[in-house]
Amino acid sequence: MAGDSPYWNPKTETLDRERLEALQLAKLRYHCEWAAARSPWYRARFAAEGFEPSQLRSLADLRRVPILTREEWTNSQFQHPPYGEIPVIGGDGAIRLHTTSGTTGRGPLRALDSRKDWAWIAEMWAYAIWGCGARPSDTAYIAFGYGSFIGFWGLHYAMEKVGVLNVPGGAQSTEARVLQIVDFDATVVAATPTYALRLAQEADRLGVDLPSSSVQRLILSGEPAGSIPQTKALIEELWGAKAFDTAGMTEIGTIMVFECSHQPGGTHIIEDNMIEEVIDPATLEPVSYGERGERVVTSFGRGTIPLLRYRTSDLVCRVPAATCSCGRGFDLYEGGILGRVDDMKIIRGTNVYARGIEAIVREFPEVEEFQTVITREGLRDEITLRVELRADRSPASWEELSDVLHRRLALAHEGLNFRIERADAGELPRFELKAKRTVDLRDAPIGAAR
Ligand SMILES: [Zn+2]
Repeated sequence: MAGDSPYWNPKTETLDRERLEALQLAKLRYHCEWAAARSPWYRARFAAEGFEPSQLRSLADLRRVPILTREEWTNSQFQHPPYGEIPVIGGDGAIRLHTTSGTTGRGPLRALDSRKDWAWIAEMWAYAIWGCGARPSDTAYIAFGYGSFIGFWGLHYAMEKVGVLNVPGGAQSTEARVLQIVDFDATVVAATPTYALRLAQEADRLGVDLPSSSVQRLILSGEPAGSIPQTKALIEELWGAKAFDTAGMTEIGTIMVFECSHQPGGTHIIEDNMIEEVIDPATLEPVSYGERGERVVTSFGRGTIPLLRYRTSDLVCRVPAATCSCGRGFDLYEGGILGRVDDMKIIRGTNVYARGIEAIVREFPEVEEFQTVITREGLRDEITLRVELRADRSPASWEELSDVLHRRLALAHEGLNFRIERADAGELPRFELKAKRTVDLRDAPIGAAR
């Protein structure tokens, strides 16, 4: 129990880098031995790659451990249904089954957990709950569906562990949830960023003034939107409360990062229980502090599903622990989870982000729709912005607009030369959900249509 400390685990949260890495190395070795002895998938993979846990003499040796991809996991489930060969026990040894919501590839991942795994899952959430300032005197309302998606299940148990009075807000209408939050004098609310906004809209409709309610803190999870400063500021304004970003994934069963009460504009990595690497997704080489790359996670607490060097496709930018003033020794992800790696393209050595392009293009109200097309011509990659203009707000001169777009895009991308093309009215695809405005034709068969 953390008592008066601002840290849930004062001993490990304030370790210096040398001691933290020694702890990580010891846990890594143990976890690799565990996986090699019990998981058929890891046993076969380690043998195929010539890796043995005894080769781990320093943290730098982590790179000898084979990387695991989601595709390998789902393929294993497909070949050895229903759980694949990664788990160390089957359904008869586990106490819970959760699945991912994703529909890509060969269906959702099925994640098994033991009782001991669930104790760890709750412990990770406790770092976040305590770290943002929630205490046993609080009342927490958990606006969550309590279904097969793992979501806030771990937060629920962590609230109990910390001693917070806990209201499970499953299976209710948004209106009923707003009324319960007020009725029970909830001081903490857990929700996705989108749902926190939805609750605020509903409160407004009902004439409930949330800023004058008891709510002091919101714990956000489930979407990268929780780390977008504009979205978070809006949530804080509508609720009259502080909002704290967290992020987790079904693959580890819990969260791996949380924002502390100092609100540094980023999230601390729970480094005493995980190793997070940030790599260049093309070369798989590590990137430096302050550079964007893909998260690769190794978690030490889930015994049933050992997760070693799992590629997440999450885009992050790691910065040193000292970036935050709270005194933790845990490094941070600046701006939280920034999006998906699929959003990033590398054109002649320059990183290009779909949302970076969108931020520039959206400054021009005369643009109705746009598309970014990447092609390979000979050995050279080319990037083209295709622009469809609004019929009612055409620019004075297309040449002038394309010139400004060309210059702005180059300025934001190390001088990269974007071709600007005008598309006909109604030519480009329209989206209602999950827009896909980047088309990468570099590996497409010759003659593929746009
Ligand atoms: Zn901090």
